[in-house]
Amino acid sequence: MYDFSRCKLCGEQAAVPKYSLPQMTVYACGNCDFHSIDALDDFPPEQPEGTLLTEKSRKFIESKLPQNRKRMKKNLRFIRAHLSPTGRHCLDIGSGVGLFPALWQKAGGVAQGIEPQQIFREFAQENFQLRLRRELIEDPCWQIDCAEIFDLVTIWDTLEHVNFPAETLKAACRVIKPGGHLFLDTPSRDAFSYRVSEWSYRLSRGSKPLLLNRLYSPKPYRHKQIFTQLQLTALLGKIGLSVVGRSDYHRSGTKLVVVCQKNVR
Ligand SMILES: [Zn+2]
Repeated sequence: MYDFSRCKLCGEQAAVPKYSLPQMTVYACGNCDFHSIDALDDFPPEQPEGTLLTEKSRKFIESKLPQNRKRMKKNLRFIRAHLSPTGRHCLDIGSGVGLFPALWQKAGGVAQGIEPQQIFREFAQENFQLRLRRELIEDPCWQIDCAEIFDLVTIWDTLEHVNFPAETLKAACRVIKPGGHLFLDTPSRDAFSYRVSEWSYRLSRGSKPLLLNRLYSPKPYRHKQIFTQLQLTALLGKIGLSVVGRSDYHRSGTKLVVVCQKNVR
């Protein structure tokens, strides 16, 4: 069991409960002010291949595809403003049903993807003929076999879901070639709606947490932490990635969207 008083960002024993929500507690670090909840994913054993996707789940996933494809096309446009996909090797971390790797390949690039949820991997195989990998980026199969081989890594809407985001980013950085790129987006704690929810929690003594209850969830594979822009930029810098661009396509300011370049030693 993880000791949640140990901050998942700075590692100091300085995190204390800040917001008590019905199903979870949001901890805040007294040292770096990182916010994260007291829940981690455990990864259930694999089921026999091809057994999880049912007619009902297939329909549900398909109903979400148009909206998600639109989002991934936006992400692809953001990348194109910095580099061309043609011939470039991309590792997509947290691929879901494989929409982004499929788009990347269609755009002329080469893509691999990581997705821990078996049901999504089955859908990716069936619909896009993509064989997504279940091993997380921290696994030796990436860290040893794939060190510094990718032109770029993409992490779309995933950093807020992983158990240990600093470790995930460090591991992602390791597989990027020197001078290669990392593109990512994640919810922003600087968003006005987050601040309003914090005020509401305080004024109502916890009875009206507004979005806090929706932005975080202790359920498997849901949001566990939300970064401020300063925290994310500092973390990227610490692990050898320089932020070289941002996107403002989420005008509401609800997301951080950045591109960084791996430092050349
Ligand atoms: Zn901290």
